[in-house]
Amino acid sequence: MSALLKAAKPWVAALSTYQPGRPIEEVARELGLGDPESILKLASNENALGPSPRALAAMRNLAGRMHIYPDGDTFYLRQALARRLQVPESHLFFGHGSNEILALLGHVYLEKGTSIVASAQAFVVYKLVAALYEAETLEVPMRNFTHDLEAMRAAIRPDTRLVFVANPNNPTGTRVPNADLVRFLTSLPPHVVAVVDEAYIELLPDGQAPEVLPLVLEGRSIFILRTFSKAYGLAGLRIGYAVAPPAGIGLLHKVRQPFNVNAMAQAAALAALADDDHVERTRRMVAEGLAQVTAGLRQRGLVYVPSEVNFILVKVGRGREISHALQRERVIVRPVDAYALPEYIRVTIGTAEENDRFLQALDVVMGKGQN
Ligand code: PMP
Repeated sequence: MSALLKAAKPWVAALSTYQPGRPIEEVARELGLGDPESILKLASNENALGPSPRALAAMRNLAGRMHIYPDGDTFYLRQALARRLQVPESHLFFGHGSNEILALLGHVYLEKGTSIVASAQAFVVYKLVAALYEAETLEVPMRNFTHDLEAMRAAIRPDTRLVFVANPNNPTGTRVPNADLVRFLTSLPPHVVAVVDEAYIELLPDGQAPEVLPLVLEGRSIFILRTFSKAYGLAGLRIGYAVAPPAGIGLLHKVRQPFNVNAMAQAAALAALADDDHVERTRRMVAEGLAQVTAGLRQRGLVYVPSEVNFILVKVGRGREISHALQRERVIVRPVDAYALPEYIRVTIGTAEENDRFLQALDVVMGKGQN
């Protein structure tokens, strides 16, 4: 064995690598499908409308200044977001996607001898981060594809540092009732920090978003995580943020790298934040797309997990096989066997035309009208 492996920390060498949705170009190359433009990716819950035109303009404007380091303090974006969320600037932290912030939380809170609590089908990065810091993941079975908050609380041990609630959750698309979430967050034992991952929160129907921000403003031990990757359509830039009491934000600053949010991302996010119309168009597309896709699935007698966000779990039988077959039809979806859901695929909601293409491809690979 070479020193490359022998010298590595054994638990790092034993980690598994995160499997993202497959890039279009990779699938095109592998299957010899020719023009990548003809392939539809519905595998990573991206925004089918693309970035806001205002964000595009901001990026073009800034392109000539990429030789300058970014503002390490994300000053303008922090100001604008604080105003938008009605929280003090001291409560905000920006990261290279909310994924980076998840890793930074590991840096701050996890080590050998500690544990995290998360649902068995929670966003997989939580347990990957725990493993990176040698912390144990206490997995709690979900109920009806939804977090079982009571069981999660019961799973908390004296060595538990972080409890993760993705709300809505990926890959299930489900969320917990707002009142249950507030009760859960206000009754956690004092040694535990809650991470409420709200990556998809802007996509929820009007008036449905849970009120976790007030709990943060009360000074409770909670990190809310959000992102510009979904409703704001900036997944390629990698920018997300945390809202937490200043003590928590201070810890994240200690462990981040100096320029962890690039200048293009800061400028685009600032412009995207001001483009309410684009977010509104996105919300409408998702609501209409969900109605379209679920009607299509029902017509075909297919079972799905009801969702309010821009992806949906569909029961297709052999999920991995069907995903492969769909790729040949130039549609990339996500198998979810890694989440112990081998019978399902996760499909991102796209434009009306894209959703239709998915349903037609599904007909080809499953045979019309079959279960
Ligand atoms: N949390 C959840 C629940 C997600 O689904 C995702 C994206 N797949 C992320 C966090 C990470 O998003 P990003 O790093 O792009 O902000």
